[in-house]
Amino acid sequence: MIKIPYPEILAKLTQQTGMTQEQVEQKIQAKLQQLSGLISKEGAAHIVANELGIKLIQNTGKIKDLYPEMRNVEFLAKIQNIYEVREFLRADQTAGKVGRFIAGDETGTIPVVCWNTQTDNFQQLSQGTIVRITSGLVRENRGQAEVHLNDQSRIIINPKGETIGEVKLNRPARKPIKELKEDEQAEVFGTIVQAFNPTFFETCSQCNKRLKNDNNQLKCQEHPTALQDIGYVMNVYLDDGTDTIKCVFFRQQAEKLINKQKQDFLNYKQTPETFEEIKTALLGEQFKIFGRVKKNTFFDRLEFIANDVAPADPKEENTQEERI
Ligand SMILES: [Zn+2]
Repeated sequence: MIKIPYPEILAKLTQQTGMTQEQVEQKIQAKLQQLSGLISKEGAAHIVANELGIKLIQNTGKIKDLYPEMRNVEFLAKIQNIYEVREFLRADQTAGKVGRFIAGDETGTIPVVCWNTQTDNFQQLSQGTIVRITSGLVRENRGQAEVHLNDQSRIIINPKGETIGEVKLNRPARKPIKELKEDEQAEVFGTIVQAFNPTFFETCSQCNKRLKNDNNQLKCQEHPTALQDIGYVMNVYLDDGTDTIKCVFFRQQAEKLINKQKQDFLNYKQTPETFEEIKTALLGEQFKIFGRVKKNTFFDRLEFIANDVAPADPKEENTQEERI
């Protein structure tokens, strides 16, 4: 099923039917009850949309309308950021390549992951290059949509006569921690009041996902022959005066939070006691964190999964407060 975040389904339904959010949610609740709770609320919302004749998924060629599990997507974009091509070794000893860039248009930005021959033209790409992408597949990675390009896909560089207006950066609004709701994207701003040692786990070297135990062997279901890599995650508690929330930083975000590299983390794995001073230095520091709110069903509480993090400049924050 194509995954549209629940708050976006609600927004589409209220906009396109003229109903209030309350009325839409009542309809979804009624559908959930009718189906005796044997369906997710997203699933119920899809059925309600269908009954109301609302198309939730439209192939508009705009980045904001790309959702995980869409296939054969085509869109025009301007490159915002481009990262180095990485080589990796498959278990059969053949070499693979993967490269990424961030594509943007007037409606938003999305990461584009290029596999193998799709990295051949990377030298012709740079920040500001306009590209038309065809036959992309949208996948979900840690709650975010990203476009994957394989041998069937195409990147047309500087297509004739095509331009992109001002790119809209995906920066959700800042919210007080106590007002955060499940599944929504937001920016939070606060002070770190507790920090924990990173935890480490095995990942797939090809897709970076955590390996699952399959018959006592750790494997990626999609890339069973790929090599193992090490992933890490760091947790902190952030306090903004309204409440506290556990913030979760996976790999690159953890590196960004403490301004360290992968090798440093591998060292912390060997000698965890050297991480003490990092934790001490973090306490009392202020950060702006962009991310998504997730329900931790085991502990029945909300957590904040970071997609980006930046140290907060107290001066800049104070002027913002004055403006409010
Ligand atoms: Zn994998």
